Amino acid sequence: TEELLRNTEKLVFAGQLAVSIAHEVKNPLTTVKGMLQFSNETVNPHHYNLIMSELERMNAIVSEFIILGKPQAVHFREEQCLAILDEVLSIFEIQSVMNGITVKRKVEQGLTIRCDRNQIKQVFLNILKNAMEALPFGGEIDVHMDILDTFQRIRFSDNGEGMTDQVLQRIGEPFLTTRPDGNGLGMMIVQKIIDSHKGRMVITSEVGVGTAVEVYLPVV
Ligand code: ADP
Repeated sequence: TEELLRNTEKLVFAGQLAVSIAHEVKNPLTTVKGMLQFSNETVNPHHYNLIMSELERMNAIVSEFIILGKPQAVHFREEQCLAILDEVLSIFEIQSVMNGITVKRKVEQGLTIRCDRNQIKQVFLNILKNAMEALPFGGEIDVHMDILDTFQRIRFSDNGEGMTDQVLQRIGEPFLTTRPDGNGLGMMIVQKIIDSHKGRMVITSEVGVGTAVEVYLPVV
């Protein structure tokens, strides 16, 4: 119990720290963007566009952190699942590029689901982050979206290091982690959110071969 408490405290602290850093970074970022807009006649237009789009990306990441850090009221609405996925993929892009990872996206059919948008974003992001961590030397993550019966299915597969059966059976338990700086909470949160959306998660994995995480969410 004591270790559990300590882990929770550490996590809360790390989360608060991330959010306060995000807040601190947001202000100078806004200033730099403003100054750049003022100097648009003196900066090479190609550079101007690049700087601006990179600043906007930073802004998006920082805003994402601020949103994640706030205890959010849950709002179930009818949403386009594909739009949520694409938003997450664009947030994830900068991290994947930095880690030498290509994300392949294949969409067969995307429909309307009833969900809390931020929670579903968190689900997709956590699964993508795990896939990336399973690919320490880079590689590919395949994202596949289609419909199976009355469910929107989103499959994330990586050809990373995979999981042993022991880990696979326990996935979703709090503090289950094989990562040196992991906290073992990501998949627990993912499972909770999917349950609250009356969905399902199916994971298949083999050590040295890779992992596929399938998320099923009921369509409207
Ligand atoms: P964390 O990422 O902090 O370790 P998670 O709850 O997100 O916590 O994941 C728990 C564990 O599940 C990870 O430490 C890892 O061992 C395993 N895991 C999750 N996703 C994958 C994946 N795509 N490939 C290999 N192992 C994975």
